[in-house]
Amino acid sequence: MNAKQSNLLLIIAILLTLFALWVHRFFPSKHLVIFEDVAPYSYLFSVELPDGSPSAYWVDENKRKWRCNSPPRAKDSTFGCSFVMDLRKDSGGIDLSDYSHVLLDVKHQGSSKKLRFYARNYHPSYSIIDDNNSNKFNAVNLDTSELHGPISVPLGELQVADWWLLQYNIPRENSKPEFKNITEISIDFESNVPVGIQDVEIYGIEFVGEWISAESWYLGILFVWLGSILFYALNQLRLLRLKTNEDYMRISLLAQQNQTLLQQSDELRRLSTVDPLTQCFNRFGIHQIVTSLESHHQKHISYYSLILVDIDNFKHINDRRGHDAGDRVLQLVSEIIQSRIRRSDSLGRWGGEEFLIILPDTRKEFALALAEKIRLVIHDSIFEIEHPLNVTASFGVAQQKEQEDFATAFKRVDTALYAAKNQGRNCCVMAADD
Ligand code: GH3
Ligand code: MG
Ligand code: MG
Repeated sequence: MNAKQSNLLLIIAILLTLFALWVHRFFPSKHLVIFEDVAPYSYLFSVELPDGSPSAYWVDENKRKWRCNSPPRAKDSTFGCSFVMDLRKDSGGIDLSDYSHVLLDVKHQGSSKKLRFYARNYHPSYSIIDDNNSNKFNAVNLDTSELHGPISVPLGELQVADWWLLQYNIPRENSKPEFKNITEISIDFESNVPVGIQDVEIYGIEFVGEWISAESWYLGILFVWLGSILFYALNQLRLLRLKTNEDYMRISLLAQQNQTLLQQSDELRRLSTVDPLTQCFNRFGIHQIVTSLESHHQKHISYYSLILVDIDNFKHINDRRGHDAGDRVLQLVSEIIQSRIRRSDSLGRWGGEEFLIILPDTRKEFALALAEKIRLVIHDSIFEIEHPLNVTASFGVAQQKEQEDFATAFKRVDTALYAAKNQGRNCCVMAADD
């Protein structure tokens, strides 16, 4: 994915998030109707008045309308007047904790300014079996003036009654309203209800809540974002690792190729300086050595000696024994010289059957002695065992003079070799110091 696509995706994600935040208000709400036409588990709680009549009784057959009769009485006398719905099922009450409001469609007639709505909650930590009163008393007092049609009461307005907290000595941490396990709800008048008749009509009790609360919805959106960011980061990390590995592989491959090229280049350089027949340096190789010696010479004020070797009457060997035999002679002469010179000395094939030995830091006396030794070895060696051949060579020897370049020194050693040929061959001649 390129940067343009990523930006587009980010903009789409932000727009979707804004839409998701906005759309929550249109989510359908969930409803739990407790009381509609009939209230199956409802009853009136009443006390017996001094004249024997009940304090609360149904007024109509449908049990929608009930009356509370509050006679004049002593202040501390017990009085009760309640409409109660028992919500207990086999295992307990109803979980209303997911609901946010209660819709009450209640009408009131009478002098009382307040009507109470309460919901009792069962919890083993404070409820006592067989003591209905020990269930938490979450209550709210409604103004009777607003009870002309349905009203919506937030459950957050219900509070735990102080008398209940005191009566059951409830610790502070348990004193908040609870709706997890509601065993009964009720509409009633408190004991200080004014003297007289209060009529109450109940048409509906319904709890309303959201399927998904705003908090859960926003938290969900946040988790989706965090998850996406984490996924993106991990993916980027994976791509980075892949790229690093690829780069590493490419670098190692390049290093390998570079190494091979270096080896090939070394081999080519070596081949370009070596004579294929005798395996000693060719003329180009000799020039390389001389160049290196001359640069060395500048720094260290050194010198070298040269021995120029020419096989005697080589043309006859070729003519009599053939070119291949001539090649074998060239190879053996090269081997003989190679085995007699030092590591620091170099042997090169100057031309057809001519070899040049370069001896760094070597005086001409030593060079002459070495030439003589090689001459004798060649003379004494057996060439072509099956049909032995007499092979000899002539030698010119010279020592490089101070400030003398190679061409001049070579000229002198070549002249010395020419002199050796003139002296009858198979001998060594020292160059003149002209
Ligand atoms: P001299 O004693 O005066 O040096 O006589 P020479 O016969 O050795 O000298 P010359 O220059 O007349 O002949 C050299 C011969 O070497 C001529 C040529 O055919 C032969 N030759 C040059 N290169 C090679 C080679 O690579 N292999 C063989 N077999 N012969 C070669
Ligand atoms: Mg020659
Ligand atoms: Mg020759």
